[in-house]
Amino acid sequence: MHHVVIVSGCDSSRQEQGAGMVSYDLVVVGAGPTGATVAEIAARTKGWRVLVIERRSHVAGNCYDELYPGTELLWHRYGPHYLRFTSTETMSYVGRFTEWIPGNYVVKSNVDGVLVPMPINLETIELLYGRAPLTEELARELIQSDVVPVEHPANSEEFILGRAGRKLYEKLYAKYTAKQWGRSAAELDPSVCGRVPIRFDRNPYYTDSPMQVMPRDGYTALFDRMLRSSPLIDVVTDVDWLQERVHGTAATVFTGPLDEYFGHRLGPLPWRSLSFETSVENRPWFQPCVQVNYPGDEPFTRKVEVKHVTRQVSTRTVVVTEFPADCGEPYYPVPAQESRKLFADYARLADAERKSRQVFFGGRLGTYRYINTDEAIENAMKLAADLA
Ligand code: UDP
Repeated sequence: MHHVVIVSGCDSSRQEQGAGMVSYDLVVVGAGPTGATVAEIAARTKGWRVLVIERRSHVAGNCYDELYPGTELLWHRYGPHYLRFTSTETMSYVGRFTEWIPGNYVVKSNVDGVLVPMPINLETIELLYGRAPLTEELARELIQSDVVPVEHPANSEEFILGRAGRKLYEKLYAKYTAKQWGRSAAELDPSVCGRVPIRFDRNPYYTDSPMQVMPRDGYTALFDRMLRSSPLIDVVTDVDWLQERVHGTAATVFTGPLDEYFGHRLGPLPWRSLSFETSVENRPWFQPCVQVNYPGDEPFTRKVEVKHVTRQVSTRTVVVTEFPADCGEPYYPVPAQESRKLFADYARLADAERKSRQVFFGGRLGTYRYINTDEAIENAMKLAADLA
C-alpha cells in the first residue's frame, strides 16, 4: 500500500460538476470493513488499480482501535465491536489477515444495583423474579402472566412484550432503548430489540453465533493488512471524497452516509450518534465483564472494559461510558416507520446512480442498514464479486 498525495486527475471545473475521473479502475470511499474488503478483492481477483479515500486520519472505520493515549491498553475509539460470524466462508476469508482470540463477549445489565445476565437467560429470570433454580419450563410458566401475546409484532415494544413479558421489558429494555434511540421501543422496528436473543438456557454470551472472535492484534491491524495486501491498492487519508467526487474508470464504491452522497437532497436521514467518556482506572479490573448495561434513569447506556476481551495484562484498565446523542458522527441508522419512506427514496436515487455511473453503495452507512461487522464484510464480498 502506498500513500498517494494527488487525489484528483481532473481539472477543477469538472470536479465542481462532480464528474472527475482518476486513472484508477476502482475508487473506494471509506477505509472501513466494507471499503477494505472491496479494495482487497478487486485488486486480487481482477487486478484492478484501486484508490481508497478516507476522510478520517486512519483506516478501519468505526472499528478503529488503538492504544489509549498514555497507556499500553487497546481501546475502541468509536465504541466496542464484538465480532461474530454466521458464515464459515466469511470467517476464513477474514482469517487470512489475522489470527483470532476467543470473543469473551459477556454482558450484564445493572438492574437497581444487581448485575443480571443480558441477553435474558434463566439466571436473569431467577434474579428478577426471585425464584431459583428455574428450568426452562418453570421460567416460561413464570413469565407467562406478564407476556402480552401479539401475533405479528409491529415494533420493538410488542416484540419484547410478546417474548419476555412486561416485567422484563420494563426492567431491561424500555428506558435503555429510549435513551439509546431518543425514541420509545414502540417507535422502532421489531428488529432493533430483536437483535438481542432471549434465552431459556444458561448461555452467558452476547450472541448466539458459535464463531465469536476478536482479531488478535486488533481491528486496525486487520483492516490495515487487507489494504496493504496489494501494491495495486493506494490509500489516502484526511481527504473528504465529497469535496473531490472523483470516480474510478470501472466503478466507485461509496461507504459513507447515503444521504451525504446526495447532498441531503431529499432531506436528512435520521441517524443516531454516541459520545464517549473515558477513564483510566488504577486497578486491574473495573467490572466483572466487558460490558455492563444501565437500563435505568442514568444518562448513559453502558460501560465497556474491552480488556476482558483483549486479555491484556496490566495493573490498570480503560473504561468507556457511552452517552447516546442525536448529533455527531452517524453510528446507527434508525430502523423505524419514520425513516422508511425517505430511505426508500434515497435507495431509488442510489439505484439510478449505480445504473448510470457505476456507483455502488455499501456498509452500514452507505446502505442505511443496522448491520454487524461480519454482515458488512459479507455484503462487501458479494459487492466485489458483482463489480465488472
Ligand atoms: N437493548 C436494550 N437493553 C439492553 C440491550 C439492548 O433495550 O440491555 C435494546 C436497545 O434498543 C439496543 C438494541 O436492543 O439498541 C440492540 O442492542 P445491541 O446490544 O445489539 O446494540 P449495539 O451494540 O448495536 O449498540
